[in-house]
Amino acid sequence: MDLVIARPEGLYCPPGDFYIDPWRPVERAVITHAHGDHARWGMGHYLAAADSAGVLRSRIAADMPLQTLAYGERLEHHGVTLSFHPAGHVLGSAQVRLEYRGEVWVASGDYKVEPDGTCVPFEPVRCHTFITESTFGLPIYRWQPQAEIFTEVNDWWRANAAAGRPSVLFCYAFGKAQRILHGLDESIGQIVAHGSVEPLNRVYREAGIRIPETLYAGDLKKNDPRLRQAIVLAPPSAGGSTWMRRFGDYSDAFASGWMMLRGTRRRRGVDRGFVLSDHADWPGLLWAIEQTGAERVMVTHGSVAVLVRYLREQKGLDAQGFETEYGEEDDSAAEPT
Ligand SMILES: [Zn+2]
Ligand SMILES: [Zn+2]
Repeated sequence: MDLVIARPEGLYCPPGDFYIDPWRPVERAVITHAHGDHARWGMGHYLAAADSAGVLRSRIAADMPLQTLAYGERLEHHGVTLSFHPAGHVLGSAQVRLEYRGEVWVASGDYKVEPDGTCVPFEPVRCHTFITESTFGLPIYRWQPQAEIFTEVNDWWRANAAAGRPSVLFCYAFGKAQRILHGLDESIGQIVAHGSVEPLNRVYREAGIRIPETLYAGDLKKNDPRLRQAIVLAPPSAGGSTWMRRFGDYSDAFASGWMMLRGTRRRRGVDRGFVLSDHADWPGLLWAIEQTGAERVMVTHGSVAVLVRYLREQKGLDAQGFETEYGEEDDSAAEPT
């Protein structure tokens, strides 16, 4: 019996009668993480990992009907034993483990295998069937260690600061921004956050994650002398908007896994591209899949066909694609336009 099937509302667990990251309103939703394409408004009841409560409440509603479990804590519902396990993607991100009559399935949500200091690191979970994402499921995607990327970011910022020019770094507001903040060298200058980034910084700080002090961009006037040595973290949507005018003559950059593709930086029209993703790269996906010991693999959003074929032909696994509507908010939003 399949413990998870694809339905028009989302991934559905028939014996448990609940959905995982549904994209339409349903009565019972199990949420892997708080990115907008996985955690949506309007569910009758939400179940999520305890570490994601702060972000969910700040993004959906403070009084949302939310029940949480610590990582590893088990809950039984209609004979299905459910537990959350760290996915290493963003604060509170979890894989969902389901066990029913001896059969074990794990739905990964989005995941990253390199620990980053801003969330609990990914932990492989043994299972019979693994539902994996495949955002960067092509052999060309191989990340450098993040320490090297942070050195590049800090060097770029330092050079701009020396020239008296603000550095504007575009990145997704939840997860990527806090990970970058965690890796910045505060001695270079002031750190400034866009209004969509600042509330999430607060949630991370409350969760005990080290996020350096930030100034809210709205509090700064054009030509504020502090801006000349500052780095500004802003969501991609701020690019080209009138909001940018206050920074005068600035250098800009974009941080995303898609920066691996030369054309992306050019189309974005930014000075620099930093290859930094909160998703597993190709070797990371294959490593994670192997660690689960699963014989059956269901592949969701990303390079589904390529990964399915590779797993079948090279690994001898029973692999197939799963139709979903994920991929909107973070790097899973395909190549940014
Ligand atoms: Zn995500
Ligand atoms: Zn996703």
